[in-house]
Amino acid sequence: MAETFVCLYCNYTHPIEQSTLEHAIPQSLGGAHAPDRFKLRNVCKKCNNDLGAFVDASFVKSWFVTNGLATAAHNLYDGANEVPLPLSCIGPIEVLGLAVPEDYIAEAWVGPSGEITLWLRSTDDRLYWYTGGNPRHRTKPSTVYWFPTSDDPERIRIGMQSVFATFKNRKNTRKVIGAACHGFPGNGYPPGFDAPDETDAANIVAIRAQMKGFRGRLSLNAHFDKRFICKLALGVGYGLFGDAFASTENAIELRKGCWPKNQAQIEVRGVSMSDSNDPLLERFVTYPGAVVLAATSIEDGYALMTTIDEGKPFIVWLAPASLSSSAVHASEGYALLLFPSIRKCVETTFARLIGHRSGEWQDNALSVIDARLARAKKFWSELAPMPML
Ligand SMILES: [Zn+2]
Repeated sequence: MAETFVCLYCNYTHPIEQSTLEHAIPQSLGGAHAPDRFKLRNVCKKCNNDLGAFVDASFVKSWFVTNGLATAAHNLYDGANEVPLPLSCIGPIEVLGLAVPEDYIAEAWVGPSGEITLWLRSTDDRLYWYTGGNPRHRTKPSTVYWFPTSDDPERIRIGMQSVFATFKNRKNTRKVIGAACHGFPGNGYPPGFDAPDETDAANIVAIRAQMKGFRGRLSLNAHFDKRFICKLALGVGYGLFGDAFASTENAIELRKGCWPKNQAQIEVRGVSMSDSNDPLLERFVTYPGAVVLAATSIEDGYALMTTIDEGKPFIVWLAPASLSSSAVHASEGYALLLFPSIRKCVETTFARLIGHRSGEWQDNALSVIDARLARAKKFWSELAPMPML
């Protein structure tokens, strides 16, 4: 008989050739550098693709998470990072007199030194809350206008790295600089920038005139969270507790929660931490610069808590106390801190994380992160001050 596996997400049996590498923790949250236990093989190709585009991306590309990750990266940036800083998203904006093609919008982003980046891109009403729009529209033509705020070479270098990294996978995206700068070889503009055409020139004038008043229109989708948290808890629970977890009642409920048709009837036990009255959780299950996943014992089992750079808290019931795991310490729990912007993670216990944050004892790996945070703070404070826009 041919070898088969049961997919963690859809629960169907597939031939082994359909097995793919699934990051239980999405790569943009640091999953590529997470411990191997969170790199799953029992996920079919279809679930991997579909849930990646419509559940992971829905969460990661939401306004709060996009900006939480940008702040986290900023907090750890010491000038020598391999990974350029992500841009923060203001949101879609209206600019009087701007020539925007039909079915396109102007989406405003901000760079590390306050550089305004205005992106004229195609829009997709079905995915209105995705910053950057539908990730499957990568090859559609678009135009980026970039406005530096400072002539300090270091700030320009950091800002340009960010804007090029953001659009590096979009081959049909023109990048036009909104400041007067000539004298470069080729088209007269810095390498990587396109020469403006007549429409660009008029657009740049319109944008510059209104730049100080840009306010984003926040597009939020209240339902995306639940699907993502279900999928994350299912994958993380499996990574921590293995096969025994996949058949627990809670895993079955979490699996249902991954699919849109079940949204009305699922009963996942969990609360947003901002609704809880527990100051301990709010204060300690967070870390500057980090995506934190922590599992700890609650009355009848384990709960999973997640935060991003000291915000976006979530807590969901994970597994019954009858399960055991070599990764989850029976009394101290489990904590994983992911630092996607520096491609690192720290695996420790929940008790050690709290101990370190409260100053009771020092966790060596977290002390290395603390030193990095201090270096980053110093780096930003020593850069040339930004002129007012
Ligand atoms: Zn599947």
